[in-house]
Amino acid sequence: MRGRGILLSIPVVLCVAWGTHALANDLPPTSLASVEGHELTFLKSLPREWSGTSDRDCKTYEDKNIDKLSRPFATSAARFLKAFVEVHGHVTITSAHRSAQEQSCVCEGEKGPCAGRPRIVKTKTGRRIVKRSASRHQDGIALDVRAGTGTEEEFTCMHEFARFNPQFGVHFPIGRRDQPHMEPSGPGRKSVRLAALGTPAHHITPCAKMKIMLVDEHMD
Ligand SMILES: [Zn+2]
Repeated sequence: MRGRGILLSIPVVLCVAWGTHALANDLPPTSLASVEGHELTFLKSLPREWSGTSDRDCKTYEDKNIDKLSRPFATSAARFLKAFVEVHGHVTITSAHRSAQEQSCVCEGEKGPCAGRPRIVKTKTGRRIVKRSASRHQDGIALDVRAGTGTEEEFTCMHEFARFNPQFGVHFPIGRRDQPHMEPSGPGRKSVRLAALGTPAHHITPCAKMKIMLVDEHMD
């Protein structure tokens, strides 16, 4: 057991080659658009399907929904997911940008929190009004992603991967209450600190369990 403990305590850092597109910021502005196009193509190459948590399939994972993501966020998300797939395996995109109509569609039957769902709110004067908040998906700054087959362990690994690799600029702010929900993280404070410590941006830290994602059988 002692030997095993030592083995697990060795910090594991993998280097994943990111090709020539490692840092879009280093490229001249003229080639930035093509890099972003490349990232969108990568997102579209990933498996995509309905999460099954709403009453019906609102198809918010299609090309049209990927195209409407904020470009900086789509770039961060693509880089994060590419590294995650290389290290741990399988991911599926279940929802990207949503129009207001698509947002209320996904809220129908959704058991968890849902921003598009109308709520009755009592004002200070005692009047009841209907409130409908907007989701980050409507601003194109949220992406729902299932890790592997979507088990608790697989999601934990993906959340960890985001925490361990803040250089990608994404996080899962709602944690266990909405496990697939990914957003851009704050204005890169952590990555600045990492850079100051001399940690190269292309060093990737895998999640602690080194788990390989499972692949779903057909879900029909
Ligand atoms: Zn979401």
